[in-house]
Amino acid sequence: MAKGCELCFTGAKSVIFITGLCDDGCYYCPVSRDRLNRDVFYVNEVPVSTVSEVILELARSGSRGASITGGDPLVRSDRTVKLVRAVKEHFGGNFHIHLYTSGRYATIDVLRALDKAGLDEIRFHPTRAEFLSRAKAAKENTSMAVGIEVPVAPHIEEWVKDIIMRANSLSLDFVNLNEMEFVEPNARALLARGLRESPTRPFTVKGSLETAIRIISWAKESVEIPVHFCPATFKDNIQTRNRLVIASLRDLRWNEEPLASGTLLEYSCIAGKGVLVKREVYPTPNRRPIVAEEVVGDCSD
Ligand code: SF4
Repeated sequence: MAKGCELCFTGAKSVIFITGLCDDGCYYCPVSRDRLNRDVFYVNEVPVSTVSEVILELARSGSRGASITGGDPLVRSDRTVKLVRAVKEHFGGNFHIHLYTSGRYATIDVLRALDKAGLDEIRFHPTRAEFLSRAKAAKENTSMAVGIEVPVAPHIEEWVKDIIMRANSLSLDFVNLNEMEFVEPNARALLARGLRESPTRPFTVKGSLETAIRIISWAKESVEIPVHFCPATFKDNIQTRNRLVIASLRDLRWNEEPLASGTLLEYSCIAGKGVLVKREVYPTPNRRPIVAEEVVGDCSD
């Protein structure tokens, strides 16, 4: 498993969505349309606008690392380099940071600047074969771990195998396969290509899991590079849940009860009405609600 995945596994990594800007236009892009191609900035669903706000949110969440994603973070490479440097200076060298990019804007200068700022690991999603040369450049010119991360589905099985062969011949550090998501932003484009949602694995493309298993069996016999598969259910049910549990326990308020899902039950008395209400909320600073509040008692005393 890539080093960047180890902390993710335990929920100890925050997700920094540094910009929604991206010039690749993948038909399977799962990024929500209120973020994609907009220059928005979030940490764990919390909107931020400065590096200081990022650091505050990372500290509040008790994170020991972060993944930087988007969009393509390198569309805003200056912001990304500045952020990596500031986070490393604040939390120290052991705070592990990995970053996803298509590689389109991963010039040698940008790669060296990221390396110098302290980025630990870079993952390429090579939307064009020529972007693999940027992964090669990263491997040859920086100290960062360099990997490939791509979604899998039955119709691109051969393309994924080809990418793995190339990553292997470039002596990259790992290949990660993701289950292709089937979500509202990409559903129409996937349907148009004849792809369907899995009847047993909600929000994933039918056959994606089976394709990943076939590819991993093939890779065991065919290449030396480690190939790892991250199912969508793992991301949602384990990684995100663990992250929410850590954040909710660190930031628990007197009127809240933690739930096993990592969310919170918040109780409050409505002034003037004398009714006690509860609502389920995410452990964000503003307690983003999940379901509407419900009256559970009287608090007129
Ligand atoms: S590179 Fe990533 S963010 Fe950009 S369009 Fe493709 S999947 Fe979406």
